Amino acid sequence: MHNNKQNHRTTQQRKVILEELKKVKSHPAADEIYRMVRKRLPRISLGTVYRNLEVLSELKEIQQIELAGSLKRFDGNPENHYHLRCIICGRIDDAPFELENNLEKQMRTFTDYTIISHKLEFIGICPECSSKLP
Ligand SMILES: [Zn+2]
Ligand SMILES: [Zn+2]
Repeated sequence: MHNNKQNHRTTQQRKVILEELKKVKSHPAADEIYRMVRKRLPRISLGTVYRNLEVLSELKEIQQIELAGSLKRFDGNPENHYHLRCIICGRIDDAPFELENNLEKQMRTFTDYTIISHKLEFIGICPECSSKLP
């Protein structure tokens, strides 16, 4: 059963997780967010951080970046935007341009699907990894 003290703690934990995630542009995985949050809430568990990340995603306060075959990454910006991803180190950056709403408009003219949204990810090799290549 949840008492008020517990509810207060849950709200506080969620607030700290959201604040820490919004501070960074690195699109961290859950274990990285756990390390950041633990500096402020030393007794929090990885499971609690993970559960809160799921709840925050459901509430659309943050978003998850789905990646095939690797750890889920989280983004403190819930708005749709494009990403650049390094295939070597897994670094993810925001792509420096606006959403292309024309893509959805065009797709509507080609299909009977009701288009809700679209995702776009650029895949490449980041500057650091490029400089280490032979
Ligand atoms: Zn890289
Ligand atoms: Zn992003």
